[in-house]
Amino acid sequence: MAFPTSGLHWRERAGLKWLEGGFRGARVCFTTRTGGVSGGPYTSLNLGILTGDERESVRENRHRAAAAVGLDPGRVAIGRQVHGADLTFHGGDDPPTHFAEPGAPPEEADGQLTDRAGVGLLVLVADCFPVAMIGRGGLAMLHCGWRGLAAGIIERAAARIGAESAVVGPGIGPCCFEVGPEVLEAFAHLGPGISQGPMCDLEEVARRSLTAAGVGDVVSAGICTSCDREQFFSHRRDGGVTGRQAGVAWLR
Ligand SMILES: [Zn+2]
Repeated sequence: MAFPTSGLHWRERAGLKWLEGGFRGARVCFTTRTGGVSGGPYTSLNLGILTGDERESVRENRHRAAAAVGLDPGRVAIGRQVHGADLTFHGGDDPPTHFAEPGAPPEEADGQLTDRAGVGLLVLVADCFPVAMIGRGGLAMLHCGWRGLAAGIIERAAARIGAESAVVGPGIGPCCFEVGPEVLEAFAHLGPGISQGPMCDLEEVARRSLTAAGVGDVVSAGICTSCDREQFFSHRRDGGVTGRQAGVAWLR
């Protein structure tokens, strides 16, 4: 299986707006903040429960998002994201229902994997990059902040499924991601061009990590979440009080 290098397209339905790629064998979507019921800093399609938003609002938003993209919310897998490199493989048809019924925390993992059709793999982001991968062994959706990338989440997931191609969603751009020396040191092995002064290009880090892991075919949204206030939550721009959008992918 492989994603062809066609781009992502904007889609709108029922007041929601998202980026979507209809790829052979799989579909990948990146949600925006448009079309939900949350207010204040979570306006409006906040999908994260650990943000301080109302649980019922998040539940409604999650069901709206799943319905818009054509997924059963009860078949969407999420993890408790800790900026690590642990992966959860969903080998059955029905993952745990933490997404549809927010409450008890899901298993700790920053990557969700499956080889089952119709099982949605979802990560929550607000500056970190959602990265979908597909290969002979299945599909992966990864939460990629700098710590997860430094911990090797891309390399681990690529090896697990024999990844051949990937889609990188919206995340914080080099225009807005000022970092300390510890971040630049973590990626020094990737060579020059991943930073300019203290400004780090995390999308380029992800691209180079994908290439190094043998994933030759990479599409990216090329959108900075911090610059696009209208459409995306940004943890850094909003001072940590904000919502979460999602990257979600499934095998057809
Ligand atoms: Zn920016």
